Amino acid sequence: MNDFPQALTIAGSDSGGGAGMQADIKTMQERHVFATNVVVAITAQNTLGVQDSFPLPLELITKQFESLAADFHIKACKTGMLADAAHVAAVAENLRRFDFGPLTLDPVMIAKGGAALLTEDAITTLRNELLPLATVLTPNLPEAEVLIGQSVKTPAEFKLAAQILQKMGAQNIIIKGGHQTAEQQANDYILYADGSDEWLSTPRIETVRTHGTGDTISACITAELAKGTPLKQAIRISKAYIQAAIANPIAVGHGHGPTNHWA
Ligand code: PLP
Repeated sequence: MNDFPQALTIAGSDSGGGAGMQADIKTMQERHVFATNVVVAITAQNTLGVQDSFPLPLELITKQFESLAADFHIKACKTGMLADAAHVAAVAENLRRFDFGPLTLDPVMIAKGGAALLTEDAITTLRNELLPLATVLTPNLPEAEVLIGQSVKTPAEFKLAAQILQKMGAQNIIIKGGHQTAEQQANDYILYADGSDEWLSTPRIETVRTHGTGDTISACITAELAKGTPLKQAIRISKAYIQAAIANPIAVGHGHGPTNHWA
């Protein structure tokens, strides 16, 4: 009993179903992992953008953690949209209280449509309280730049940024290079806890249907870790999964469409 792989997503709800917690749950389901969730905020959102968002009461965040800890055997967890400093602090406090396995920290800041999913003053709290708890940190380029306070463009700067983030306390760092639109490849740089590193590159796919890509890759890593897949393999599987999800779009919505979790 209670030994089926179970994972946890701590994130914001996307009513449009393509990103946030919904992308996480769909991905975990596809990877044959049972998804539990702590809802941090609710967004009114579709493929055209984020129309509104509302963080849940802090007390309810803690109660969700307590409910899960009292029943499930969670083997890996991840964070997504955390809204503001108070919610980041509450999540960090609960992650210190309970053992939910390795944490994949996706430092979600701004949606592709421009909506802020984390207040600016929360970045310091995230850096100080959550980052040292991360087994895997998965910033995209703009997020890596904000976290370290300097620009990241060249391969040497990717490496330096990952080293700085590791010194801040995260164990393994994946800097996702997909925002470098002039490149023919999506080049991700990975610095592992043991100091080894590698680049994973896939051909760039020209599409607007990339809503929820960051959530999906971090959810896939989390699901694989919940199953006991070794980290390097979990990352490779996840890079291939997101590539297929972007390459096989589904026709949903009028805007910046979702990736395909069945791909
Ligand atoms: N909405 C929520 C609730 C999210 O957590 C995220 C990303 O983490 C997004 C939207 C981002 O969507 P996009 O991929 O369009 O930037």
